[in-house]
Amino acid sequence: MAEKRRGQAAAGEVSQGRAASYEHGEGAAAEVAADLFDGIKEMVVTNLMPSTVWALEFTQHAFPTISNVGILAAEAQFWRLGDERMRHVLEDISHQTPVERGDGHLPAVRAKGKTGRLNSATELAAIFDECVMPAHLAHRTRESYQFYWKCVITWAIAHGETESILPMSQTTLKAITQELMMIGCATGTIRNVWSAIEDRHRRFGYALPLGMQGDFTRMSKAVASVQGQPSRLIFPVGTHHVRALLELAGLTDTQTRDMLMCVLGTVCCLRVSEVSQLQMCDLMWSHDAAWHPQYNNTLAVRVYKRKQDQARKGLYPRVGEGVAVRLRSFAERMDLEETEECTKKRSPGARCRSCPPVFPHITAGARTAKPVSRQQVTRAVINSLKLIGVDPTHYSGLSMRRGGISAALVARVPEPILFLQSGHGSNCAARNYMVPRDPHILYETYLAFGL
Ligand SMILES: [Zn+2]
Repeated sequence: MAEKRRGQAAAGEVSQGRAASYEHGEGAAAEVAADLFDGIKEMVVTNLMPSTVWALEFTQHAFPTISNVGILAAEAQFWRLGDERMRHVLEDISHQTPVERGDGHLPAVRAKGKTGRLNSATELAAIFDECVMPAHLAHRTRESYQFYWKCVITWAIAHGETESILPMSQTTLKAITQELMMIGCATGTIRNVWSAIEDRHRRFGYALPLGMQGDFTRMSKAVASVQGQPSRLIFPVGTHHVRALLELAGLTDTQTRDMLMCVLGTVCCLRVSEVSQLQMCDLMWSHDAAWHPQYNNTLAVRVYKRKQDQARKGLYPRVGEGVAVRLRSFAERMDLEETEECTKKRSPGARCRSCPPVFPHITAGARTAKPVSRQQVTRAVINSLKLIGVDPTHYSGLSMRRGGISAALVARVPEPILFLQSGHGSNCAARNYMVPRDPHILYETYLAFGL
């Protein structure tokens, strides 16, 4: 064995370090990664009871990850942590809270363990923790943290380290990070795992493994500089695309719907989910006309639930006449309009219970149809670009938001004003531009498209 190692060193392929040997060369790292992948699974199986192993499910991911971690509560290595800590390790934080399920409408709250006529302070606080507090992080962020935390749990079982993940020491954190790198996880994935670890500590009141100021940045820089952070090339929808789309003639209803989704989504810097959630009562026609008649036939779009707007103050991107008129005639053709039972006035921060979507998933019988799905929005961008002869390989649903923001930046719309259309970045400066409430600046992003 020793002889073999010497032989390789002589060939110049292996250099000796202190903690390990490092081999450069085609395929060597991939071989280690594949071996680790199997090794982790094998050790997980070894370290769990047969009855648990039998029910175990793994997710397809660069790092083998147990998806149904709930079943681990039967394992001695977890209940040894004590009831509370085990719950902190295994709790699924990705569930939608009852409040989130109501999509802005507060549900009726009836306490289960009520001790008197009124709920006690302790009971009320427990209900608050359960149904309101989780919403400080967007639901999808919690889903992502839950997923990456499961990587950590799986890692811990494989290494016999379930005792050391919550709270976690910096040594354990480095160990996990090193193995993620060796198994071939991207820098982005590693950052996500760290954020999930950080969140879990904060949520349940543990001191952070990266407690010392600046450590997170230092480690983060180290990892990124070692392996780089490649990202997929995605082009923005360009101003020239938007103009070409609006010139298309002879479109079918579905093509018109798709084209309008792509155009409106781009001009308003919308995310895919924001396009699919729009309802007729979110369209405020001629909203600024009361201030000046030149704003007749324009449109303010209520984006009632934006990622950066967890407080739901609402953002109202503006759309000028060219697009607004096309959108209105599509809605009329589809027989889509605000209903009398609209609940938006009462609760502007909530999904309306009765009005139809702006973009229905089918164009026949649109009035009663469900909204388009997120996949349909993404497909609408691709299909629309194809209609104007663009190769859609490097475009996705994200191209709309990127398109709106890039167009505005190229046209030198000041960032605080762009914020009012796109909702990105910080809002403090932006609000100052609203005094006095001259709506003119609100159309600058739209005008950047040269429409
Ligand atoms: Zn409504």
